[in-house]
Amino acid sequence: MAMTSHVTDQLLPTVVSKKEEKKIEIEEKNGDMNLAIAQGKGHTQAHLASLINQYVDTLNQCSLRNLGFSDNQDFNYDALASLLHFHLNNAGDPFLGSNFSLNSMAFEVCVLNWFANIWEIEKHNYWGYVTTGGIEGNLHGILVGREQLPNGILYTSQDSHYSIFKIARMYRMKCIKVSTLVSGEIDCIDLKAILLAHKDKPAIINLNIGTTLKGGIDDVDNVIQTLHECGFSSDQFYIHCDGAVFGMMLPFVKQAPNITFKKPIGSVTISGHKFLGCPIPCGIVITRLQYINALSKDVEYIASKDVTITGSRCGHAPIFLWYAIKRKGLIGVQNEVQKCIINARYLKHRLRDVGICAMLNKFSNIVIFERPLDKDFIRRWNLACYGNIAHVVVMQHVTIEMLDSFISELLHKRPTWFKDGCYKPLCVAKDIGSENCVCSKHNYDVIQNLWSK
Ligand SMILES: *Cc1c(COP(=O)(O)O)cnc(C)c1O
Repeated sequence: MAMTSHVTDQLLPTVVSKKEEKKIEIEEKNGDMNLAIAQGKGHTQAHLASLINQYVDTLNQCSLRNLGFSDNQDFNYDALASLLHFHLNNAGDPFLGSNFSLNSMAFEVCVLNWFANIWEIEKHNYWGYVTTGGIEGNLHGILVGREQLPNGILYTSQDSHYSIFKIARMYRMKCIKVSTLVSGEIDCIDLKAILLAHKDKPAIINLNIGTTLKGGIDDVDNVIQTLHECGFSSDQFYIHCDGAVFGMMLPFVKQAPNITFKKPIGSVTISGHKFLGCPIPCGIVITRLQYINALSKDVEYIASKDVTITGSRCGHAPIFLWYAIKRKGLIGVQNEVQKCIINARYLKHRLRDVGICAMLNKFSNIVIFERPLDKDFIRRWNLACYGNIAHVVVMQHVTIEMLDSFISELLHKRPTWFKDGCYKPLCVAKDIGSENCVCSKHNYDVIQNLWSK
């Protein structure tokens, strides 16, 4: 305290109010804290910038060969750079606004309306929000389903995203895996048998609108019909659609099965950073407003507004999404969807032409083929593998040139993966169908002919 009186003596007028004395004490305490961390000076801006530049160089290298994942790397949001000067937080219900005024809920609602329109639900009938990604959308959709049908059993196909099984554990829901067809879509014959064995409990069904690995599309109509055939009335089932990538694509493909709230589905989610492309992971979930009203009626006052999974929510993501959909327009999105599917067909045909098994589902941009037998090659092209198969997801940044250089490298390396040059392809009949397989058991002679030419 000696110092206080010293400072007071020297610098302050002789009469010091109690309030001012308090202020001086606080400043001195802060002074002590400064001394305690006097050793850790900040780096110069130039130094940090050079580290970031190095990192950007490696990122540019990576994205030249990013084939295995469904994240569109082809975007430019430079126009939004000035937003980085703000912390934007959309905590709460986007339709109710927030007393934290630095929010982007107006943009968020605009994005949600856009999705409500493509998934065919009227503005006054839906509710939704911009999530941290497809997984949060799954967390929300399945939660809404469980709140509707508290003792329901969760059904989902074995090809479902890993998050569904995690969610079942988190929510302590009984979860039954349903088998799939070769395409990756849910097998309704198996579903029927399982539903009949559990007729006493309501059904919460997670459907894949494009499985991660094969891009298999669950047949919503067939599933609904199966439910009815098994005696489930409309109030005894809830359908959540996990549409991470294809939920965004299918509405733009003529003849593709459409995702629509005109059918008795409860919720749809997609990943915002996958097809649309976004520097920040994000997603969209849309459900029926009546479920959210029921959800908020059940909980106390604060919770009635607290219907999102997380509290603080990224305020930048909705603006990135808004910018993407406004820039592209419906026609721009449609052109991108078309380009991806056409380029995927190109890859499938090129692989088959050189005798490599390959499968591509209808309306899909995911090409499945034999797993390359070389870890470095897999890493170099960022391929995702599963058992004997690998896949390439043909997104907007994947050009024909990139695919050509991938194939030529594959053809160059592949003979070295078979001992003594003895060509023995893996059997992938189980994964992509015997008609697509060229192993010694299946269409090996086709390949022999091709290679002897
Ligand atoms: C990618 C994916 C998810 C997860 O989405 P995130 O945006 O990564 O959270 C969920 N389901 C399917 C089918 C996916 O492909």
